[in-house]
Amino acid sequence: MGYALTGAFVIGLAAYAGYRAATPQKYLVTNRHPESNDQIEKVLESLKISDESLQQIMLLLEDEMNAGLSPAMHKNAVVKMFPTYVRSTPDGSEVGQVLALDLGGTNFRVLLINLLGHAQINLTSKIFVIPQSIMLGEGMNLFRHLADCLLDFMKKENLVRTSVRYPLGFTFSFPCKQEGLASARLTSWTKGFTCAGVVNEDVVKMLQRALDEKNINVQCVALVNDTVGTLMACAYKDPHTAIGLILGTGTNACYMEQLNKVGTWDGDHSEPKQVIINMEWGAFGDNNKLNHIRTKYDEEVDLSSLNPGKQIFEKMISGMYMGEIVRLIMLDLMQQDLLFLGHREGYSGYKAPLFSRGGFYTKFVSTVETDEGIGFSNTRRVLEDIGIRNPTYDDCAIVQHISRHVSKRAARLAGAGMAVLINRINRPNVTVGVDGSLYRYHPRFKRNMEKCMHALVNKHIKFKLALSDDGSGKGAALVASVADRTLRRKPLLSEESEHDEPGTPINFHRKFDTPY
Ligand code: ADP
Ligand code: MG
Repeated sequence: MGYALTGAFVIGLAAYAGYRAATPQKYLVTNRHPESNDQIEKVLESLKISDESLQQIMLLLEDEMNAGLSPAMHKNAVVKMFPTYVRSTPDGSEVGQVLALDLGGTNFRVLLINLLGHAQINLTSKIFVIPQSIMLGEGMNLFRHLADCLLDFMKKENLVRTSVRYPLGFTFSFPCKQEGLASARLTSWTKGFTCAGVVNEDVVKMLQRALDEKNINVQCVALVNDTVGTLMACAYKDPHTAIGLILGTGTNACYMEQLNKVGTWDGDHSEPKQVIINMEWGAFGDNNKLNHIRTKYDEEVDLSSLNPGKQIFEKMISGMYMGEIVRLIMLDLMQQDLLFLGHREGYSGYKAPLFSRGGFYTKFVSTVETDEGIGFSNTRRVLEDIGIRNPTYDDCAIVQHISRHVSKRAARLAGAGMAVLINRINRPNVTVGVDGSLYRYHPRFKRNMEKCMHALVNKHIKFKLALSDDGSGKGAALVASVADRTLRRKPLLSEESEHDEPGTPINFHRKFDTPY
């Protein structure tokens, strides 16, 4: 009898603890300090965006897109909608050996890609670090650093000074006005880069100059945005792909648009009558149109950034900022005596990461939200890492609750943006190629996006979010391979130089308007 009672007690305790762990939201409403919970809920309420509000945001985004595409309004438009010179998607039959550089914002990768046809790709790659001093330094030094990394990689792969001049695709994920496939002027730096002397310059020319200085046997034949690379890589495998989405350090999207909607298009109007548009959607809201959904935390993140007032949509969504939003909310709740109550004396001083800008990484948001056990063991470790000694169950549950709100808001905003594009493309099946560590590693970003998209995408359209493995680099290689073949053919037709001319479009085999 005694054993039975003790057993029942233990099981009951375990069940209660499990219940609390599994339902922190309910727990928050019923714990010892209901008035504190109301205050916490009030803070988090400001992060909630209803479906109706998302629908309004979709209309706003569509207006901004049309402004970006209109010759009369483009200059003042915030969402720039840059036409790329990529006019069709690959069909999987492309072959060849191509190099690619992928400069994202956090990661810089050098890739060697073998296109084998039949939608098969072999890939070797290496990640290099871009030191902070180079991110903030003189422009030409950035390109010299990229060239050094490429040379290092080519030496290891035995590609140096052979008789071959390798074609290279350059994934450059910053806003650029393209004037051709291998010609692009940087309009502004984002994501923590501020290298001097690059804005308004042709970044392909700067890269080629750095490659030539070092006698590297490589010709940069194409520059693509990472969204475009992702779309192309995904299309190599899935013919329904019409959108590329990045959720990494920053966020951006591209999609295949009908030429008659692109007033700013200055190329020819031959078939296929379409072109990929690099939206640069991170700048949505830079004209204050999203102020009604911004919180004081968003304002603080913006003010302490390298580009205040810019990339407002990006700052509510992407990896560079998400952890910081969570940190600012934690600090605010702590100052209101709603969080880390036992740590007035316990935290390891104001030098702790909790008190430093950037001290709470976005990967911690993933870790915290992955925690499902009773003990919050990962959340505890993360909180200890940022300077909270012996965090309590309440601390962990609240931090998880905050993280869920912040990442859910980001996923819903990205999902609403996707819904605009999918509805606009209006095909029975649309696949979105997605790349970026936030999407890849966050445990519920995809699920939250899909859920909101099911509510916002027109019912007759089937859509799919497809993770595009290494998409941004692979896609640049695909574009470069086709560009290279086109360039090699050119001298047979004319005496023009081997270099790409401004305005030269790229054509793959498949036309986007092939009926599915
Ligand atoms: P890039 O933007 O340079 O192409 P990534 O796609 O790898 O590089 O994105 C890097 C960003 O992803 C970082 O800013 C970081 O905030 C975020 N990130 C890295 N790991 C994770 C993770 N486990 N969960 C969520 N976000 C992550
Ligand atoms: Mg990337």
